[in-house]
Amino acid sequence: MIIHLEKDISEERLEKIISEVAKTGFKSNLVTTQFGRYLVGIGKNDMDLRSIGSLEGICDIHRVSDQYKMVSAKWKLGHTAVDLGDGIQVGNRNFQIMAGPCSIESEEQIIHTVEHLKKNNVNIMRGGVFKPRSSPYSFRGLGIEGLKLFHKHCSANGIKIITEVMQVSQIEQMIDYVDIFQVGARNTQNFNLLDALGKVDKPVMIKRGIAGTIDELLYSAEYVFSNGNEKILLCERGIRTFEKAYRNTLDLNAVAILKEKSHLPVIVDPSHGVGIRRFVEPMALAGVMAGADGVIVEIHEEPEKAISDGQQSLTIEEAANLYRNVRSVLKVRRELN
Ligand code: PEP
Ligand code: MN
Repeated sequence: MIIHLEKDISEERLEKIISEVAKTGFKSNLVTTQFGRYLVGIGKNDMDLRSIGSLEGICDIHRVSDQYKMVSAKWKLGHTAVDLGDGIQVGNRNFQIMAGPCSIESEEQIIHTVEHLKKNNVNIMRGGVFKPRSSPYSFRGLGIEGLKLFHKHCSANGIKIITEVMQVSQIEQMIDYVDIFQVGARNTQNFNLLDALGKVDKPVMIKRGIAGTIDELLYSAEYVFSNGNEKILLCERGIRTFEKAYRNTLDLNAVAILKEKSHLPVIVDPSHGVGIRRFVEPMALAGVMAGADGVIVEIHEEPEKAISDGQQSLTIEEAANLYRNVRSVLKVRRELN
């Protein structure tokens, strides 16, 4: 059960609601976000919502049978748009392309990528400065100094930044330089990190775990929401299966299913999803048709020289082609709806 409370509800009314909820056998969890206050009732009994719904201080009340609650589509009418500022939104009919290198490698690379994105009307640049690498001997990213350079050029050009945060202690260092915190596939169930990201007022994109289920991704999002941050994006980036012909199995079923189960925007990552350059564009287009609210792709001026993920990075020309085709397919999707 979700009880949407009036924002300025008095303590007295809140106490009264909590005690009435307790009488029904439900346990109340108070959730206060940047946008509202909610009581999430957890319990198994069949109860009559009307006995609670008529209490003072309540905007509305919903029965949500899913195990995750606040991220469920069952209580919220329509889809959520996440606001990145300066008129840039993701979700609820606002589609965004995010593009950039796997890792930020140099200031020159940032400058060239920003120029390319502006020329192609792409609003969001991706790039890792703290990199999760399978081998400890691989390049681990330029760190906070790289992020400051990334921010300097993007903010001067109206481009928003999405970059990965790997641990709780990095949040404070990074927060002034980031527009979207990315939680990588290896950290989807780092619950301490999710708790901490719930306490900041910055959008968070959570990638699906390497072997994570759709529900597990939604529970991870619930951690962020229940800690106070409603600005969440979900990302399908492929999962590990028995198939060896490509890097990961991009699960486009998940895109369609997440759009139905949740009100949150869904982003598709065909770069990690297939891991082979020539298949990135077709899988991006398929992701759009599956209902995604955005795509995130890796691009590089010289993919063969990229420090990480060159095999799946598009050249600048291929990237421009992908943007054009993604926009055409999006138009078709809208015409079909
Ligand atoms: C990335 O975006 O470069 C990345 C490491 O992604 P994932 O966490 O999906 O592997
Ligand atoms: Mn990568």
